[in-house]
Amino acid sequence: MSTLSLFDNFPPEIEQLRQEINHHNYRYYALDDPQITDADYDRLMQRLRELETQYPAAITPDSPTQRVGATPLSAFTTVVHELPMLSLDNAFSDEDLLAFNQRVQDRLKITDDVEYACELKLDGIAVSLLYRDGLLVRGATRGDGTNGEDITQNVRTIKSIPLRLAGTGYPAVLEVRGEIYMPKAGFNALNEKARAADEKLFVNPRNAAAGSLRQLDSRITASRPLEMCAYSVGWVDGGTLPETHSGILAALKTWGFLTNRETQVAKNIHEAMAFYRQIGEKRNELAYDIDGIVFKVNSRQLQESLGFISRAPRWAIAYKFPAQEESTILLDVEFQVGRTGAVTPVARLQPVFVGGVTVSNATLHNRDEINRLGIKIGDTVIIRRAGDVIPQIVQVVETKRPTDARAIAFPEHCPVCNSPVETVADEAVARCSGGLVCAAQRKEAIKHFASRKAMNVEGLGDKLVEQLVDLGLVSNLADIYALTREQLAAMERMGEKSADNILTALENSKKTSLAKFIYALGIREVGESTARNFANYFGSFEALAAADQDALQQVPDVGPVVAHFVAEFFVQESNRVAVAALRNAGVHWDNIEVAAPEALPLKGLTYVLTGTLEALSRDDAKAHLLALGAKVAGSVSAKTDYVVAGPGAGSKLAKAEELGLKVIDEARLLELLREHGRQV
Ligand SMILES: [Zn+2]
Repeated sequence: MSTLSLFDNFPPEIEQLRQEINHHNYRYYALDDPQITDADYDRLMQRLRELETQYPAAITPDSPTQRVGATPLSAFTTVVHELPMLSLDNAFSDEDLLAFNQRVQDRLKITDDVEYACELKLDGIAVSLLYRDGLLVRGATRGDGTNGEDITQNVRTIKSIPLRLAGTGYPAVLEVRGEIYMPKAGFNALNEKARAADEKLFVNPRNAAAGSLRQLDSRITASRPLEMCAYSVGWVDGGTLPETHSGILAALKTWGFLTNRETQVAKNIHEAMAFYRQIGEKRNELAYDIDGIVFKVNSRQLQESLGFISRAPRWAIAYKFPAQEESTILLDVEFQVGRTGAVTPVARLQPVFVGGVTVSNATLHNRDEINRLGIKIGDTVIIRRAGDVIPQIVQVVETKRPTDARAIAFPEHCPVCNSPVETVADEAVARCSGGLVCAAQRKEAIKHFASRKAMNVEGLGDKLVEQLVDLGLVSNLADIYALTREQLAAMERMGEKSADNILTALENSKKTSLAKFIYALGIREVGESTARNFANYFGSFEALAAADQDALQQVPDVGPVVAHFVAEFFVQESNRVAVAALRNAGVHWDNIEVAAPEALPLKGLTYVLTGTLEALSRDDAKAHLLALGAKVAGSVSAKTDYVVAGPGAGSKLAKAEELGLKVIDEARLLELLREHGRQV
């Protein structure tokens, strides 16, 4: 039955494309067995769109191109469900489930096993879809079960919902019921995007699905990763349906619906219980959230005999899994210091049973997270614990905020070592600046100090460092040089021979280089090559320790962040004490000869590099100029003395000319560098 039969002037390719696209949708969603790649699918859609642009009169409402409505609604209209959408009774234990089975048998006056269709209860939004002659004509929310909202525009955008039924044999009027949900991966990606844009996060996938369906502009709904899983039928007219519930699900699949792939038929209530346990074990690995298993008497004839009680069927029950979200109270926030110095706020909660365990702590990640949640001490909060994931606070119940709720104060000093806590711009994490002295960071600091590229103390490995710190034998860097043969030999898997080897390695490590020593201190962001640049530029440890941030930034490859960390390191008395202790223990190196800054030939001159340099990289050119005492600035100003302009120089060159500055090319720069003894 082609809708185009009256318009034979349209190319037949249009209808062929639609059929092909619908077929691939069916393979993808109903059968979970796609035959083409996403790219090929997109090409079919693209071709159909082109043809429909050429022949606009050929567009039909069920064309796969017509999923997204053009104009937003001003409000949702109300839909009265032809047959009410009922709720289900719940079971919370095996006893509840056995009692349900007993009631079914009693009512049917049988003692034989009852067969049950077992389905996963997806955690989403229940909807009703109405098809007339195979065409989707209405989509509605469950609402209160009697009245729902018309969300036709929005359900049309969900690709797993057929606009036109596939196959044959469907009733003339068919109401399909199911759950619209957001798979976990799509939910995480959506929140990831919101986080990057500093927008409000969705609390959980169900919340995100509900929010997405409640959009008046269907283009927003279309952009959300929603799916629908069909689980039953409602109003049916002009046709017959299979005799069992499992048969109906199979029919729905042939008509193009996504049905849950875990669905099974249990011969009796004991098999049903086993199914519940089997799914419970893999609940966290599923691609979507579920909150229980629904058991339905499989025979429709028996369903009819059982009937309904108030608003729930007597023939079905939902056996719930332990809740993954609960509310509790935030009692306090404490701050923990990690081994890299990160200061993390930890929520102390009134203990609550959630996700199968009792939770009394949850991480709050960082200051941004606290601001995003708008959380205060004393608040009622919603905790989510899905699977083995660390419990999260996902929402604050602001209506329950007590009048004496307190703001969360981030500490200015490390709770472990009392060093200042710092937050670097663009980094959400606050860190203890204690470095060498912070007990929380001690093990990592010592491991790094002893490592091969640092002081190279062979044999003083990670395991041994941990033991020595745990036993209190080492608490700061210099302590390793005070270790005795007896102390080392008493360690696990050590003998006198290995103890001697380590003592020799310790002794040998005392003679080092300035670059290695700077690197060994583990100053944040100071890697091997930066440490070498510092050594070559300053020549002595004293000069480095005395440099201010401006001076530090004159070193090749050193920007404001590194300069800040280095300056901060030396500001702290405790770090200076640690260095002095190391020197007292015998650590030494040779200073490097550097010309006194006043004697440098380009002292007092500021250069700006712009355009492409061919013989030198920008970094090398900068390093040479710095070595000769010049400053290298990023932008042109009246303080600039020379602009080195290569091909393609743009606004900086224009500005230099405007200010009447001296402009030289790369050839002149190379000459200059050679004149002052640089090898270029
Ligand atoms: Zn600290």
